[in-house]
Amino acid sequence: MKSPANCLYLQRMNMDTAIQYLPGVGPKRAELLGTELGIATVGDLLRLYPFRYIDRSRIVRIADIHPDLALVQVRAAVMKVRLFAKNGAELPAEKLKYNAVSRLSAIVADESGEMEVVFFKGIKWMHARLQPGSVFIFFGKPAVFGNRLNMVHPEVDSPDSGNFGVLTGVYPSTEKLKNSGITGKVMLKLIGTALEGVLPTLQETLPDYILKEKGLVPLSFALRQIHFPVDQDALAKATYRLKFEELFLLQLSLLKQKYIRSRSEVGLRMPAVGDAFNACFKALPYELTGAQKRVIREIRDDMKSGHQMNRLLQGDVGSGKTMVAVLSALIAVGNGYQACVMAPTEVLAQQHFANVSKYLAPTGVKVVLLTGNTGVAARREIHAGLEDGSIGVIIGTHALIEDTVQFKALGLAVVDEQHRFGVEQRSRLWNKGSGGIPPHVLVMTATPIPRTLAMTLYGDLDVSVIDEMPPGRKPVQTLCVGENKRHAMHNFIRDEIAKGRQAFIVYPLIFESEKLDYKNLQLGYEEIVKAFPLPQYKVAIVHGQQTPQEKEFNMSAFVAGRANILVSTTVIEVGVDVPNASVMVIESAERFGLSQLHQLRGRVGRGAEKSFCILMKGTKVSKESQKRLDLLCATENGFELAEEDMKMRGPGDLEGTMQSGLPVSLNIASLAKDGLILNDARGYAQHILDQDPSLEKPCNALLAAELKKDKYVTKDYSKIS
Ligand code: ADP
Ligand code: MG
Repeated sequence: MKSPANCLYLQRMNMDTAIQYLPGVGPKRAELLGTELGIATVGDLLRLYPFRYIDRSRIVRIADIHPDLALVQVRAAVMKVRLFAKNGAELPAEKLKYNAVSRLSAIVADESGEMEVVFFKGIKWMHARLQPGSVFIFFGKPAVFGNRLNMVHPEVDSPDSGNFGVLTGVYPSTEKLKNSGITGKVMLKLIGTALEGVLPTLQETLPDYILKEKGLVPLSFALRQIHFPVDQDALAKATYRLKFEELFLLQLSLLKQKYIRSRSEVGLRMPAVGDAFNACFKALPYELTGAQKRVIREIRDDMKSGHQMNRLLQGDVGSGKTMVAVLSALIAVGNGYQACVMAPTEVLAQQHFANVSKYLAPTGVKVVLLTGNTGVAARREIHAGLEDGSIGVIIGTHALIEDTVQFKALGLAVVDEQHRFGVEQRSRLWNKGSGGIPPHVLVMTATPIPRTLAMTLYGDLDVSVIDEMPPGRKPVQTLCVGENKRHAMHNFIRDEIAKGRQAFIVYPLIFESEKLDYKNLQLGYEEIVKAFPLPQYKVAIVHGQQTPQEKEFNMSAFVAGRANILVSTTVIEVGVDVPNASVMVIESAERFGLSQLHQLRGRVGRGAEKSFCILMKGTKVSKESQKRLDLLCATENGFELAEEDMKMRGPGDLEGTMQSGLPVSLNIASLAKDGLILNDARGYAQHILDQDPSLEKPCNALLAAELKKDKYVTKDYSKIS
């Protein structure tokens, strides 16, 4: 640090300096820091925050140490030092050969008692250091060995070293880093050097007025205190500031992309509501829920704006998304365009077709179904009808995106159960627009995503939420039982079948244990067939190893009511509607995620009868899993469950996130815990963009520069659909 060359580096250093040039690093360590921790610049190093802190502000009396304590530090004097060979024999300190020593043991004591400290490595050096009578701070994990309190390989500091009495950051590390000498201590030293070099010329990233209004500490203070906190209070201030900054810049970047898109992406202008919409609306067998009305208004505003709609519609299973899709399609039709609805499976497409046909009957709009099973002649007719515009609405599977399917004027594409489709497939729909203008896009998903996550995952999309269930929906009674209730469960299903109902029995299928899972499924199926024998009962089975035709056949048998019980793996998760099914049994329920369980449960409770969800749990259920099952029994609100799921598992593992991944990784903020900060930060970002959408004003130059950094140049998620 003191050599003139180093001073020169320090003077010139800023956040963008390559990490190699930080004194103490060099090319070799730079490469390791890059591959192991993704650190390329000095700024990356300073933005690597401790994931926890060791509180070294307290000194514990030896008499008060309990072996269950985590890390403690004691201030003690060295009483006696002994050296041992591998075979346990004590070696004399005189005429010692250190390579014969395998263990150093020292008895240290404070005024309250004594303990042993043990070293297996670095013995020569430690032996020289631990002179009897001298006092040290020993910091480590206490344990009991042979009735004696001990500490193996504690950190040893002299009482005046200044190395204790503070909160010490602990950084992510790897074996490779440790083996190359980049220990926690070395990290701290490097970070200290980096701070010295960077802080004098550090640019603040947040506008002054936000700092003032929110009472946030400056970046320089925050960076110093996050790495070397003087006390808990300073650490809390630093943490808050850095979380706010992280969420603010992320939201600013996402919202900016959204602004750019909505200004540049020309959309089909659909000013009219149209006769078809009105005719359908008048004939509705029920009143729309408030949430449905609100969402339809949002969609209508988009469709008449002249900009392309790109909207995600979230709504729990059974919340009535189909009706929203139908009315949106009719807006397109009423303005002289066509609409398509794409579903992930044949059965779902058929179901949509049946429902939509019913709703469209009073309107006179022609609706057709196109799937892989559509015959050649029918297909030819459909192609012609789409091209001459006589078909207003088409429902289908992937068959819809084939190049041979051409529209006269496609105005709206609705995609159901969004996470089943790849981005590429969706973009092929996108290209079927009219006169080079892409259709409006509405993506519907029944996977509830917590708001904070939606704002980040789809921060640049518009999100509509149906957060209200149609009236009269019977709650699903959920119970969680063990193996001893299997017999009772069978009897219960028999009773329901006697009343004319049907039952689902679902088995987990987890990729890693696929073989075993298929075996369990097969055994379970055989057991069910035995308990529910022909000719009185019919049991269908659906799983991933069947051909599409077999799956289709079994599934339709159940949908049509020809089978009483459907045994399956999770393939039925997607929105099949069997209103007559009143029981959902989930085997090894503890192995499913919370939102997956909720999705499965949503398959029942769709008819007029009271429905049941029975969670069969195994014998070994972890505390965490039990908590999930209890939660599921306690609430039917999908969003509540999604929030809880995210708190328990973190956002990365949530369904819906796994497919697309988070657009950026967060260093310090948590989507599960920092929802309030996120809301606040998003508000500020919105406000700035309202005034300066492209961040061109001089007062926003710093923000614009910040967003140019790699971290924010993300994939173009705006075209997710
Ligand atoms: P999902 O959102 O899961 O796709 P659906 O659109 O299939 O839900 O609707 C579930 C059921 O609720 C359907 O039987 C539908 O007819 C009915 N439904 C939809 N909206 C209403 C409403 N406003 N009032 C009463 N029933 C409704
Ligand atoms: Mg649906």
